[in-house]
Amino acid sequence: MRLVIMGPPGAGKGTQAAMIAEEFSIPHVSTGDIFRKNLKEGTPLGLKAKEYMNKGLLVPDETVVAIVKDRLSDEDCKNGFLLDGFPRTVAQAEALDGVLTDMDMQIDYVLSIDVPKEVLVERAVGRRVCTSCGVTYHVKYNSPSREGLCDACGSELIQREDDREETVARRIEVYLKQTKPLIAYYSEKGLLISIDGGQGIKEVGVQIVKALEK
Ligand code: ADP
Ligand code: ADP
Ligand code: ZN
Repeated sequence: MRLVIMGPPGAGKGTQAAMIAEEFSIPHVSTGDIFRKNLKEGTPLGLKAKEYMNKGLLVPDETVVAIVKDRLSDEDCKNGFLLDGFPRTVAQAEALDGVLTDMDMQIDYVLSIDVPKEVLVERAVGRRVCTSCGVTYHVKYNSPSREGLCDACGSELIQREDDREETVARRIEVYLKQTKPLIAYYSEKGLLISIDGGQGIKEVGVQIVKALEK
């Protein structure tokens, strides 16, 4: 299965993507995670991405498209993948269509997670991520058993630099302007599945699995 999961910052894409990847045995390809990994390792790509990420802006299309193209050509993506956080602009979606056509592939479904704006801010600001393994928690809705420490590996949890309230607001604006038009783009292609992301983590997961199993 070849999937895209989209939605505003804090909607729950990463959380649901981890579940879907496991349920359907496909790799979870998150452009945000790729950038954060590069940032942590101090690579030139990481340093470049940081300039945009910390301001809540999108990394330029050419940079992101090149990374995704590269990642999709890996062996583990041959039988399917789940793209999380990509595409984020119509130009990226068109580039993705081109890349997939060249590989004789196409997207099966695009999951779009809808969540009211007030809820998004609370989710993103309360998000905590593991400094070591990258697992995501929430201070209120998905808290670790020991405060500030990862259940999976015991490392310290931190707030993402771009999860401060002002930056989250900017990211939501960027989503509305640059990413939301993709809903019409994929709807016209008959690929869109809208998911009500306003419910709890488990309930949203059940909706997604049901929709994909149809
Ligand atoms: P995204 O990848 O879309 O930015 P995440 O999956 O990282 O979103 O979720 C953002 C924050 O909200 C995280 O702290 C996560 O634990 C929490 N979260 C995700 N889904 C839900 C949900 N359905 N209800 C409450 N909190 C959620
Ligand atoms: P969220 O899950 O909260 O939506 P991500 O982890 O997907 O955030 O992305 C974090 C940041 O990484 C974005 O704000 C942006 O700066 C950059 N980024 C990730 N994916 C893309 C993309 N497809 N195009 C441009 N920038 C991206
Ligand atoms: Zn961890």
